[in-house]
Amino acid sequence: MEKKHCTAIVLAAGQGKRMGASVQKQYIELDRHPLIYYTLQAFEDSEVIDDIILVVGPGQEDYVYKEIVRKYYFGKVKAIVPGGKERYDSVWMGLKVLNSGALGEEALAGYTFIHDGARMFVDEEILQRGYKTVEKYRACVAGMPSKDTVKLADEDGFAKETPNRNHVWTVQTPQVFETSLIVEAYSRLMREDSIEVTDDAMAVEQTMDIPVKLYEGSYRNIKITTPEDLEIAKVFLRHRDG
Ligand code: C5P
Repeated sequence: MEKKHCTAIVLAAGQGKRMGASVQKQYIELDRHPLIYYTLQAFEDSEVIDDIILVVGPGQEDYVYKEIVRKYYFGKVKAIVPGGKERYDSVWMGLKVLNSGALGEEALAGYTFIHDGARMFVDEEILQRGYKTVEKYRACVAGMPSKDTVKLADEDGFAKETPNRNHVWTVQTPQVFETSLIVEAYSRLMREDSIEVTDDAMAVEQTMDIPVKLYEGSYRNIKITTPEDLEIAKVFLRHRDG
């Protein structure tokens, strides 16, 4: 089967408040490079990915172009667009580039990998698994079986329910979809009055009658959110090549 065109939407428009740093977390330097460099490098080097749409904080487009995209020769980055207030607003800004036809018909007929820029340890194996899974199921998200027992709590903070751990996954990105499917899901979602989705799978679950398959991400594919995560990232980087 011929390989379909794959576009990555990399989200880097969050404010990173939980990091508590003066620099936004995507630009924090780790081992001499900004965090977002590592994420983009994985997509740039990938055999699966053709184009990248980078979503950044409004007003940061020029800075990111000069200091990251141009500096590190990320040739697959075809658009840098400003994000929105919530994550789903930022995803929508990226999808609108695709939907406008700016990346061509091939891109519209292919697959879209939506990825949190803060997950800098995404790797080629995960991207390959995402491609294989979306070919078969049309909609899929990376995740891993939960190592912890999970409790659902009531409003007063008492344990209410304990889901069977075999069925509990923590979800990561990339979340991968047929492009036409995810564009339609978000178009429907954005017309609603109140939106409560924290990931792209939820957008599909709520608007389309298509089941979303879970595929294996990795326990290293963490989202750098708090200062502890930066410590872990330093260790992962140190052991990356060995
Ligand atoms: O806030 P959260 O950790 O869920 O963000 C996940 C990813 O989405 C991050 O990479 C962040 O930069 C991005 N994001 C965004 N626009 C927002 C909020 C988050 O691009 N408004």
